Amino acid sequence: MSRRRIEKILAVVSYFSGFDAVCRFLTRGRKRVIMYHNVLPESLMRKDVANSFTTSEAEFRREIRYFKSKYGISNDMNDVSRVAISFDDGFKSQGEIAGRIMESEGDLPAMIFCAGGVLDSTSPANTLAVERVLHWVSNAPDEAIAKLGVNTREEAWPKVLWPRFRGDWREKGEGVCRWLDGIYPFAKVIASLPAEYVRLRLTGLTREELDALRRKGWLVCWHTQSHFPLKMLPEEEQKREMAPPDEMRGLPFAYPYGDAGCVGGETIRLAQDLGFEVAFASCPQKQDNPYFISRYATSEGRIMFHYHFSGARFAIRRMLKALGIVKVV
Ligand SMILES: [Zn+2]
Repeated sequence: MSRRRIEKILAVVSYFSGFDAVCRFLTRGRKRVIMYHNVLPESLMRKDVANSFTTSEAEFRREIRYFKSKYGISNDMNDVSRVAISFDDGFKSQGEIAGRIMESEGDLPAMIFCAGGVLDSTSPANTLAVERVLHWVSNAPDEAIAKLGVNTREEAWPKVLWPRFRGDWREKGEGVCRWLDGIYPFAKVIASLPAEYVRLRLTGLTREELDALRRKGWLVCWHTQSHFPLKMLPEEEQKREMAPPDEMRGLPFAYPYGDAGCVGGETIRLAQDLGFEVAFASCPQKQDNPYFISRYATSEGRIMFHYHFSGARFAIRRMLKALGIVKVV
């Protein structure tokens, strides 16, 4: 049985037996931060690799009501009883759609982590390199996908594009974009998508819009300039990418991609040296390092979400380790 399948079974058992709830109670002293990406109206939702972390408007409202009624919502990292809501990247949908819902649910605060390359960007053709690659692979015609040397579209991202993108550190992914553009123009990909989708999903919030969010109690925070996996870059370049604009100094920071494959030990040290209040990973972590704090995504489904959010996953792994069943926690 695959590791993924075992994990899923453990999550289901933990959810329906109430073990999740016990773990959540035992770890009640830990601040929980929820991670969202884009929030789109139902009519613009797309099921593709570019939108695996996108939440529909109705679903987002349901989840926010759940967090509000069960825990309360606060950006204060010391207020451990309430959860924090965070958004990554700084796209239009986050300020417009999610922002409107947070306001209508009672002027709720959130953290938004903006990549410099998205700030004030009105041109979808110049959106983040990773989004160009993701949208290309999700929407280019089958003949174009076949030229990547894979059998299916699903294989293209994990097997070819993501490894190649990570390796393109000198150009931070622009080389991969140029290569794909030569196979099938990105401009045609954009032209094939609904205009409102393109605007919400690929263009950025303006400084005025971010100011308006600040006035509603949001923390507007830094998410690097180019949104490239930091660990792949030389240390000096990591530092340049991570150095925030003045107005985002001393606030929380979120690493792009935020897992151990994209965040190195030196990256974590730099986040501390640069004076950020805390720094967030994009996945649950077992350790409580203030510069690599867990975040939880509801997009992985309710059962997996609670498995991670409650801390049940690490509790079970610790038990299995103690029994000698798994070696690594
Ligand atoms: Zn991001």
